[in-house]
Amino acid sequence: MQMYEIISKKRDKKKLTPEEIEYFVSGYTKGQIPDYQASALLMAIFLNGLDEEETFHLTLSMMRSGKVLDLSSVPGMKVDKHSTGGVGDKVSLILAPLVASCGVRVPMISGRGLGYTGGTLDKLESITGFRTDLSLKRFVASLRDVGVCMIGQTEEIAPADRKMYALRDVTATVNCIPLIVSSIMSKKLAGGADAFVLDVKVGSGAFMQKQSQAVLLAMNLIQMAKRFKKKAVALITNMNEPLGEMVGNSIEVIEAIHALKGKAASDLMEVTMALSAHMLVLGKKAKNLKDAEKRLNQAIKSGQAQEKFREMIKRQGGNPRVVYDFSFLPWAKYKMLVNSYREGYIQSIDTRKIGLCAIKLGAGREKMDSPIDPGVGMLIKKKVGDPVGKGEALAVIFANNLKKAREVSQEIRQAYQIKKPKTSRLKKILLFVDEKGAKKLNR
Ligand code: URA
Repeated sequence: MQMYEIISKKRDKKKLTPEEIEYFVSGYTKGQIPDYQASALLMAIFLNGLDEEETFHLTLSMMRSGKVLDLSSVPGMKVDKHSTGGVGDKVSLILAPLVASCGVRVPMISGRGLGYTGGTLDKLESITGFRTDLSLKRFVASLRDVGVCMIGQTEEIAPADRKMYALRDVTATVNCIPLIVSSIMSKKLAGGADAFVLDVKVGSGAFMQKQSQAVLLAMNLIQMAKRFKKKAVALITNMNEPLGEMVGNSIEVIEAIHALKGKAASDLMEVTMALSAHMLVLGKKAKNLKDAEKRLNQAIKSGQAQEKFREMIKRQGGNPRVVYDFSFLPWAKYKMLVNSYREGYIQSIDTRKIGLCAIKLGAGREKMDSPIDPGVGMLIKKKVGDPVGKGEALAVIFANNLKKAREVSQEIRQAYQIKKPKTSRLKKILLFVDEKGAKKLNR
């Protein structure tokens, strides 16, 4: 088999065979196919697509490029959640211990910040000592003993995706549904969960800008899970403003801890509770969504949810005292208010711009190997629909570099569109999607 022939076939819009797909995935993972040929094929796929069968074989080959975890030694249903990425999205930090405290085991393989979106692993690592690189043996043991474990995609889990994702990131081939589906599902399936809840984000801070694209992506992800005999459902959620109030790393951990104690912004709680409720239903710990929400609220009220987070942090090597004392977390040196130039109502927030500002402050990576500054970020004080007076704070910047803070404060102001007419707040949960299709929720 020759890579040249495979590239030419896809360039000419022909269907690839399972053997050709496997040849590409295993050859590229082993370093036998050079980046320039892999890039050419990825671009041909980006332009000409893959059909359902080809996407299935790509997912299968990518999943099998490493180990596929067998979690049958861990009792009960194992349910994972995946978000397609957003700004201020700290849902995993809350949901994983919350759902585990209600008895559903959560084996979570999380990611790092990507582009202008934040990453769960970077947030967790702002807790001194927290290890996200546990061996798979320790991952399974923690899952069995604690009920939840959150790690990164190790060398052993879908290594093909790690390599291909890095290449897609620099060859403008990320935003392609068959490639996104195979990337997400190969690593999630390798993680061994029985069912998945997907949070497909749409809006100015998401990969998917249009609701129709997000629904198509969700349907494709659900169908792919079904082909592997796993159940998946999705929520389409709004990323036209940051989720919750904090954007950064340690400050998002703080917001997550507040949420586990029942004290967080309503939009963050709404999205977290909805995704968690679906996990409880899929995990057979609740009869229906109403029952699930009741259990989740009880776990928060009784302190079980925060206790589970403390237990998980301890098991993964972090300092569990952060749950009660935020002074154990890193803090930035400077605080700067970003005041509004005019009065009116917040009409929109360019969420991508906010994400890029966080990166500029050091909360994310400008290059693959840039270090993260865990204490920096921003507090979003005004959201869409809020009234604001002239000189009133839109946001607060937490920085370790004053020059960067000044630059970023200008950019945050530009991200806000403020006008006189009153506007309504954004609806956060837009649609529910399962294998039958998308529907509006009666909330
Ligand atoms: N997230 C992933 O894990 N992969 C993609 O391709 C896009 C988003």
